[in-house]
Amino acid sequence: LSAQATPTELSFEGALRPGSLDEFVGQAKVRKQLRLLLDAATIQQRSPDHILLAGPPGLGKTTLSMIVAAELEKPLHQTSGPAIQHAGDLAAVLSALTPGEVLFIDEIHRMARSAEEMLYLAMEDFRIDIMVGKGAGATSIPLELAPFTLVGATTRAGLLPNPLRDRFGFTAHLEFYADDELADVVRRAARLLDFEIAPDGIGEISRRSRGTPRIANRLLRRVRDYCLVHGTPGDTESVHAALHLYDVDEQGLDRLDREVLYAVVERFGGGPVGLSTLAVSVGEEAETIESVVEPFLVRSGLLTRTPRGRMATRRAWEATGIPMPDAL
Ligand code: ADP
Repeated sequence: LSAQATPTELSFEGALRPGSLDEFVGQAKVRKQLRLLLDAATIQQRSPDHILLAGPPGLGKTTLSMIVAAELEKPLHQTSGPAIQHAGDLAAVLSALTPGEVLFIDEIHRMARSAEEMLYLAMEDFRIDIMVGKGAGATSIPLELAPFTLVGATTRAGLLPNPLRDRFGFTAHLEFYADDELADVVRRAARLLDFEIAPDGIGEISRRSRGTPRIANRLLRRVRDYCLVHGTPGDTESVHAALHLYDVDEQGLDRLDREVLYAVVERFGGGPVGLSTLAVSVGEEAETIESVVEPFLVRSGLLTRTPRGRMATRRAWEATGIPMPDAL
């Protein structure tokens, strides 16, 4: 149950996405900041500054990009860093934008380096230089672009090169959601799915959703499946049974979270252990550990980041049930 969306899930997500800033649950600070940015641009009848959305997967970055376009009443063009492998890929996207359009680039830190420089100029001056020919005969042809607003999303703002980060007028750091905010997400989704669920069932799902709306919506759908198949009501008992079946533990830790936690505690004696060593030992990419797993373990008070590496906290030892050596 990772925080990344599966393909079939995307269609469900479409139906559950809030359509306006007012409908968007939680992230009160970010909502206020965005509201001001959008309102000021509307008053001056110009495109708002470029916006960078940073935070772990499933917290609402794509949703917010759609909301920005909807609030501005402008079309949205969506693409992603991995889809931009050459400067030419980006030139094709940029030259097709209409005035005021919102361009969403997900995982912007994974864009090709050659495209990055083109993007700098496009963000700043709304123009690009297209290179024609090769070697000594190569020339660049300037191309004017329609003014647009770039909304970039990244799992960590620190992954972006400084010149790119500096060209965003506003960076929103999305935080994990509090349990009562997730309860609002679940309540809203249950209503849209026409599924009756008791308040304590909602509470139980919220507590186990890893602070992440995508996971809350997903667990809700598994509970709904369970009730449908077993003919049980949407109460705490059904929630417990369904979540037990899908290996979601009491704290909402998923398989990878637990693997990382056990690796630090058991294999590395509580740490400190370096990120890359840890990543190799659980067979995952360091970037995934750093931007998906670690932020939640740190927030849950299970892991700390020290200059010498990652360390398990006393709570982590307790959570794994492995006795903590006296020397620690
Ligand atoms: P990200 O782009 O950060 O990975 P998404 O924007 O795709 O996350 O959100 C994942 C799912 O969670 C979507 O189905 C969306 O409807 C839901 N969601 C995210 N944030 C909120 C929120 N604040 N309120 C309600 N639903 C949300």
